[in-house]
Amino acid sequence: MTDSDAPLLEVRGLSVVYDTPAGPVTAVDDVDLTVGRGEFVAVVGESGCGKSTMLFGIAQLLSSPARISSGEVIFRGRNLVTMNEKQLAPVRWQNMSVVMQSAMNALNPVKRIAAQYADTMREHGIRDKAEIRRRSEEVLGLVGIDTIHLTSYPHQLSGGMRQRAMIAMALLFSPELVIMDEPTSALDVVAQRSLMLQIKELQQRLGFAVLFVTHDMSLVSHFSDRLLVMYAGQEVELGETRTVFDTPAHPYSKGLLEAFPSIRGPKLPLVGIPGSPPALSAMPHGCRYAPRCPLVYADCVEVEPALYEADGVKARCLLYSPDHRPANATAPREARP
Ligand code: ADP
Ligand code: MG
Repeated sequence: MTDSDAPLLEVRGLSVVYDTPAGPVTAVDDVDLTVGRGEFVAVVGESGCGKSTMLFGIAQLLSSPARISSGEVIFRGRNLVTMNEKQLAPVRWQNMSVVMQSAMNALNPVKRIAAQYADTMREHGIRDKAEIRRRSEEVLGLVGIDTIHLTSYPHQLSGGMRQRAMIAMALLFSPELVIMDEPTSALDVVAQRSLMLQIKELQQRLGFAVLFVTHDMSLVSHFSDRLLVMYAGQEVELGETRTVFDTPAHPYSKGLLEAFPSIRGPKLPLVGIPGSPPALSAMPHGCRYAPRCPLVYADCVEVEPALYEADGVKARCLLYSPDHRPANATAPREARP
């Protein structure tokens, strides 16, 4: 296998724990994930399922009380987990950048946009003033913001423009991977949609890969190539976005799809999933989703499901287990309504 055949990012068995007074609790549990060059992979799941913790684990941005307890994050052929800060510094921003949920937190409120971009470039060895100016104007142009705003402070921009300014900053070094944690969630629906279109357009034009986290599955339906559904720190379904949307294999994916309004399609009442994800300190036996699952069988509360092959996707549900297929289940999924 040559270098260019290897995925850009390969996460192997990544687990992250939070050290609490009562002992470590696992927030990300044995996740395997690849992101290919130029690929758009979305991570979805309700709040508290471990999405942000996983992204921070991948970007090596975790701090106490969180720590990686096992696993590897192979990026461009190198394991980031074993690198020290000095080794990571050139990788951050230049090869991989992160866009946070709220630009209000990520941008410095007392610094003009130009100064923030300049600081970042200087930290990475670009000192030429004209070059800094040129690149700052260029990235702002990429996200459709007038360069007059280089002299603006973050609070002088609208929410949507602030998020765009953040994305522009993430593109300063033309990274191969941009990691985004709910970058549109602070915006209204119209601004959300327009920012998504812009992210997708940039991704296709510039060719970077995106790892995109959202709790709103409908947001990514038309934008992501593959979809990872997370529940209680585990991956519960992984597959092509179209396949997961059209025929969700895991009952949780199905529940999530019904919990958000579809972008097209008729306006149906939203169902939502009753209950909430389990506390990390009190994981249910067997399947973690069993207490909320409408298809629960006796086996589900006893046997911990693995990730099984399920018609072209992977799903962590006993419906797809060759050994524990519940006796009275009507799986496979094409047989269900
Ligand atoms: P998501 O991004 O999917 O909403 P998070 O990654 O923020 O989920 O959180 C995952 C889990 O980790 C949650 O159950 C949360 O309660 C727990 N968690 C987050 N921060 C801490 C902390 N400092 N100590 C203990 N548990 C934490
Ligand atoms: Mg989060």
